[in-house]
Amino acid sequence: MFSIGDVRRTCPTAMNLSEWQSRLELAACYRVFDSRGWTEEIFNHITVRVPESDQHYLINPFGLNYGEVTAHNLVKVNANGDGVSGTSDLVNRAGFIIHSAIHRARKDAHCIVHTHHTAGVAVASKQNGLAMDNFYAALLYGKLAYHEFEGVTVHDGEQERLVASLGEKTLLILRNHGLLVAERDLPGAFYWMCMLQRACEVQVLCAAMAGPTLALSIEACEVSSRGLHKTDPGNALYSKVFAAAVRRAGITLEALVAR
Ligand SMILES: [Zn+2]
Repeated sequence: MFSIGDVRRTCPTAMNLSEWQSRLELAACYRVFDSRGWTEEIFNHITVRVPESDQHYLINPFGLNYGEVTAHNLVKVNANGDGVSGTSDLVNRAGFIIHSAIHRARKDAHCIVHTHHTAGVAVASKQNGLAMDNFYAALLYGKLAYHEFEGVTVHDGEQERLVASLGEKTLLILRNHGLLVAERDLPGAFYWMCMLQRACEVQVLCAAMAGPTLALSIEACEVSSRGLHKTDPGNALYSKVFAAAVRRAGITLEALVAR
């Protein structure tokens, strides 16, 4: 996304270079979400595991808009949501419960994204969930799980059931609540949230239109969900999509490193 030279030039003296790179990427992602309106006031989170760390994560400081997040003000927390450098008052501990449960249980899930966008909550509130009847939904075939609503997620007791609901899937619809993606890196999580978001938006519009919606065959869904690698022989699709989204949102390195 940014050249290694730019990353080195802006990296604070006391910070590990890979953590700084991760901070730049995460701050950029918050700002991309802001540019798209995928925000819920000061709530919701995108979290990443700190590189070369098993138990430390980066999260947005509680109280800021997504557009105010920078590489510097991201908070490093442990699995309990305690600030690693004495900044626990800046963390929405209740909101982090979902993220910490999945980060701990899924060692491959280095990035977790959770949103309350209207189209996502609308689909999450429908009895039949996501309809497999449009281009984007077909891409998600076989990757999606559901978790029943138990009330606002503020209790540790739900963590085990949440993890069980997600299993080994990438995408989770939190029924009556919102959307969640757990991926191995941030560009991947962004990509799949884009697809899930598009699927939900199309479904909401389809439901508002007169006449039946054309169903898709299971075969067409399977072909769609398996076919992505054919458009991505260099395995760089997720990074390209994310970098383009950052450019499109007009996010500059200078804005991300502002103090
Ligand atoms: Zn939520």
